[in-house]
Order: sequence, then structure tokens, then C-alpha cells
Amino acid sequence: MPIRIPFPSLIVLVGPSGSGKTTWAEANFKAGQVVSSDALRAAVGTGQHDQKASADAFAVLESIVDMRLARELVTVIDTLGLNADDRLRWRQKATDAGVPAIAIAFDTDQKTCKDRNKRRSRSIPPKVLDSQITRYAETRPALEDEGFAAVYTADDVTPVALPSWSADQVSPTRRLRFGLQVSNYEWGDVSTPDTLAAIARRAEAAGFESLWLMDHFRQIPQVGPAWNDMLEAYTTLAWLAGVTDTIKLGALVTGLTYRNVGLLAKIISTLDVLSDGRAICGIGAGWFKQEHEAFGYVYPPDRERLDLLEDALQALPILWGAGAKSFEGKVVSIPEALAYPRPVQEHIPILVGGSGEKRTLKLVAQYADACNLMGGPDDVRHKLAVLDAHCEAVGRDRTEIEVTHLSPTFVYSTRPELEAEAKAMGMDVDVLLGPFSGGTVTDNVTRFTGLSEAGVDLAIVAIANLHRPGSLETFGEVIEAFSI
Ligand code: ATP
Ligand code: MG
Repeated sequence: MPIRIPFPSLIVLVGPSGSGKTTWAEANFKAGQVVSSDALRAAVGTGQHDQKASADAFAVLESIVDMRLARELVTVIDTLGLNADDRLRWRQKATDAGVPAIAIAFDTDQKTCKDRNKRRSRSIPPKVLDSQITRYAETRPALEDEGFAAVYTADDVTPVALPSWSADQVSPTRRLRFGLQVSNYEWGDVSTPDTLAAIARRAEAAGFESLWLMDHFRQIPQVGPAWNDMLEAYTTLAWLAGVTDTIKLGALVTGLTYRNVGLLAKIISTLDVLSDGRAICGIGAGWFKQEHEAFGYVYPPDRERLDLLEDALQALPILWGAGAKSFEGKVVSIPEALAYPRPVQEHIPILVGGSGEKRTLKLVAQYADACNLMGGPDDVRHKLAVLDAHCEAVGRDRTEIEVTHLSPTFVYSTRPELEAEAKAMGMDVDVLLGPFSGGTVTDNVTRFTGLSEAGVDLAIVAIANLHRPGSLETFGEVIEAFSI
């Protein structure tokens, strides 16, 4: 059962050897979040079982717990947890740090523990295990009343970070990944390439999984005036591939009206090859009529643009595939779809932008790897219900489709910082933030918890105060909260 564990919290594992503590911790938390006495024995001694290194290992463990609690980081203590004084001290430390302490009890039956112990390459002496089992039996009934904020049984728990522990202490309830969209190139009097490279590398370091650019030739009215700087998306993505190592790269989303579909396939496979498999293909039917007109593009009627989207969804994988098949769609004709080199990725993921309920979401159900939604949790739920129905109708498993979400986002470490910025801009905080736009780290965790619960897998944020030093790193704290 998924249990919401508040974030941050101090999680104390309690159970005899072989009850599954380490296995559970590894399955549910990131390595850095788990402090294990065995691992620390190996770090300060000759190995996990070096009993002579125990005192040192426990000293280091206490220091790590102190430091992580001081930073309000979720921390799992993986030791036997059978000593009441230890548990009391850890609860006290958590209380001092203002985070809840939670006990996870491992009620694995003793026969299983013993069988597992026998099968281990380094078993502990049966008598030692017996004594642990006895101590656990004595400890377990009292655990509930010891003063932990909650005691859960490991079997029942799939921790999915935090619930509302208190109104302002929030709780990711599932893993949520993040992408960064750069939608504004107005950075004042600075070098655009240097700034962009630094943003991309810092985004990578802060834990963003993907980096997205808009496919526009002039700034869109939602963001700024038309004469603001706007870099061409794929030229910039190719350059970003060269200055980053791991972050995935894509346009959110490519307007299919702007490039011949064969050329687009070439551009994206080239990006995939040059980035060593980091390209994502975001596509949509296009919407910005004035931009089309300004550049002399034809802006076809809705129906024809959606036909183009449908054709592209079918043609792109063919163009990325082997051989030289021909493709004949509703509005696209490619007599010889020969395009080498083939992409590095066996399958370049295709994300469809737009959430038109009749046709766009149907095309997502039929062909796409990901959709892209906007708005609050209720909007997301509504669109996903529509997508569910389309999936049902075409026999597609909806869980195969990644749900991505785009939102403009502000991020500040603290409320006073946010208030100072609003004041400097001559705005009320509420006006600065708008209904869905974050605020402090905690505000953002709350907001993204709601979106995650509504079904979002990947939240793409256009950080409105990206120019602010430390903004990406501050948002990294939000990412950390959901990375359980
Ligand atoms: P110790 O206190 O000795 O570190 P532990 O409580 O951390 O023990 P684990 O190392 O997690 O126990 O598990 C002991 C053995 O049992 C491992 O070989 C592991 O693969 C197996 N095991 C743990 N949990 C499960 C499970 N839920 N189902 C099957 N096997 C499990
Ligand atoms: Mg262990």
C-alpha cells in the first residue's frame, strides 16, 4: 500500500538481521538518503562485517544524521534499530530539527529470517540472530507508544514521499521527474552562449532530466514582445548537445508547419546522433498564425494541420527506421524515406503538444509516447479521462503514455525573498505568482504534489526567474523532494 511519508523526515528501520531492511531501503530510497551502519563499517573498516569498526561506523552515522537533519533532508537509518536509547536519541534529533521521526517495523517471521541468514554468503551466528529476534519481539509491541510520529509495517509500505503532515509541510506521494523549458532569452547585458551553456549545465546538475526550447522565430505574446531575442530551436539544441553530457533535449513543441517532415526527421536523428541518444521529438500542429504570416509560411486550416500531425506521427518512425520505405499520408508524401545515420536510440520518444480532446488526444492514444498538458490538477484529471477513453477505444494501455505538463514557475528559497522580489517589481505576491506558478520551494512541492497525484509523470517548468542566481539550484530542492 502506498503510504505517504512526510518530507523531510527521519525514518528509522527496526528489525532483526535478514528481515529485509536494506532491501526495502534500496527499493524505496536513493542511495544517498540511506545511512547504513553496514555500509559505514565498510567505509571505515575492512568490510560490512568488521565488528571492530562498529564504534567508528556508528560515530559517522550519527554525524551524517545530524548533518542531513540540519539540511532538512529525508534520512533513512538502516541498522537493527533494536536499541531503545538509540531510537530515543534519533527521535530527539528529529524533533530538534523540526522533522517527524517515523519507524518502519520489519515483522518478517523468524523462520524466514533464519532461512535467509543461512543462505547468505556471510551468515551471522544463529545465536546472535536468535537474540535479535527475541529483542525484536520485546521491542515491537512498545514501538507504537514510544513517541514516533508514525509506525508503519514494512510490508504495508510503499513510501511515495510526503503527505500533508501539517498544512505547510508537504508531501510528494510519488516520484515526479522534471524538465526545464527555456522560453526567454532576455538576460540583459550578458553573453547569450555562455549564459545558455551555464543554464544547461546547472539544470543537469540540479537534477532536471530534460531541457526544452520553444520552436518559434519570434517571442510569443504570452511571454514577451515579438522583438525580444528568440533563438532558432534546433540550431540551439544541437549546440546545447555539445556543452552538456546527460540531459535530454527537445523542442516543446516543434510546429510541424515549419519544416518538411523529412527534414525534421533528419534534424532530430542528427541531434540524437550528436548527443549520443538524448533527443526527444516534441511535435504539434502549430498555432501561431501571425508568426506563420510574418515569415511567409502557409497557415493551413485546423483540420489540415491535424492531418499533418497524424502523417508526421506515422512518417517519423519510418524515416528513422532502416531501409527506404515510401510513405503516403493524408497530406505528406515521402517517396523514399531513406535517412542515415539512423538515430542512436532504437526509438526516439515522440511527445505531442496540445490537448484538443477530439483529435489531438486521440492521436496521442494512437501513436505517441507522451502527451503534454497544462493547468491545475483538475485540468489534468479531465484531459487524462479523455485520453483514457481514447486509449480504451483504440486498445492502447494508457500507462504506456507518459504524462508531461508545462507550467511557468517561480521559485524562491524563502517567503521573504519572494516578497522582496515582488516588491522590487512593484507587484503583489499573488499577481507575481498567478494561480499555478509556485513561489517558495515548499509552495512548489505542494503544487507539484497535486499535479503528480493527478497523474503527471514529468513536470516541465519554464522558470520565470531563471536569470536569478541560484534559481535552478533552488528548484533542485523541489526535484529532490520528488526523487524518492
Ligand atoms: P541485516 O540486518 O543483516 O543488514 P536486513 O534486514 O538488511 O539484514 P536484507 O539484507 O535486506 O536484510 O535481506 C536479507 C536477505 O533477504 C537478502 O538476501 C534479500 O535478498 C532477502 N530479502 C529481503 N527482503 C526480501 C523480500 N521482501 N522478499 C524476498 N527476499 C528478500
Ligand atoms: Mg541490512
